[in-house]
Amino acid sequence: MIIVHSVEELISHTQNMRDSIGFVPTMGALHEGHISLIKRAKEENSKVIVSIFVNPTQFLEGEDFDAYPRQSLSDSEICRLAGVDVLFMPTSTSMYGQDEISIFAPPIRGFILDGSSRAGHFNGVLTVVMKLLNIINFHKPQKLRAYFGKKDAQQLALITQMVKDYFMSVEIVGCEIVRDKSGLALSSRNAYLTTQEMQKALLLSKSLYEAVKLIMQGVLETKIVSASMEKILLETTKIDYIAFVDREFKQLQRVEIGNTIILVACMVGSTRLIDNIWI
Ligand code: AMP
Repeated sequence: MIIVHSVEELISHTQNMRDSIGFVPTMGALHEGHISLIKRAKEENSKVIVSIFVNPTQFLEGEDFDAYPRQSLSDSEICRLAGVDVLFMPTSTSMYGQDEISIFAPPIRGFILDGSSRAGHFNGVLTVVMKLLNIINFHKPQKLRAYFGKKDAQQLALITQMVKDYFMSVEIVGCEIVRDKSGLALSSRNAYLTTQEMQKALLLSKSLYEAVKLIMQGVLETKIVSASMEKILLETTKIDYIAFVDREFKQLQRVEIGNTIILVACMVGSTRLIDNIWI
């Protein structure tokens, strides 16, 4: 595995990657969720590139940019064992200059839910993803696939939209959410949780499983399903939102089987957690 820290170095290493490239962008502190994306990329492409970059532009003032876990040594070992070909760990100065153009998230879908609680977050996400995809596509491989988790469902929807809106030559692949045995969706931010908060965090998936149970019983009114979820979540968390959207992120009044995503965001102590389930 080759580790590179600058854009120029990465571009020189992709020169000979003429076939298919699978790309997995991450912010590091890698866990089984990330590894599942890497494995899928490995299965479907001849070369795999992983990036680890704690992207400053997607953190708002007062968020956890400084505290975000950085573990480059163990992360690179994980990537090596997973068979990654190139690990890209750029510096901020390699990725960003002064007075740059940035991508603006769509005014509706980019500013609801996470985009409302974290206004401007998706501008930063889309900007860095556009940059990363352009760097990796520099020599125009035969096929570029980029892998994203359904865990960040709104991010996945917006990136899919950006690629379409900007006629970009890349296939976006959405990957299933990886959970631990108790149902907790894996996240680098789980590292912030105390043992007690870990228990409270389980309520997110518990509320989603309750929603699935009700829907399977034929309850399709989102208001009713949402009320049951709220009861579970309010036990110990502060709810940011419970939402029912279709695959395009339009709000739903009734659950549409095969076209609904149920999303929750909660504060557990001082940690903001998100989770969702695709129906
Ligand atoms: P992050 O490092 O948090 O920016 O995540 C990098 C990628 O991994 C994103 O596409 C996430 O959606 C994905 N990811 C994070 N957690 C999980 C998980 N538990 N299951 C599947 N994918 C995940």
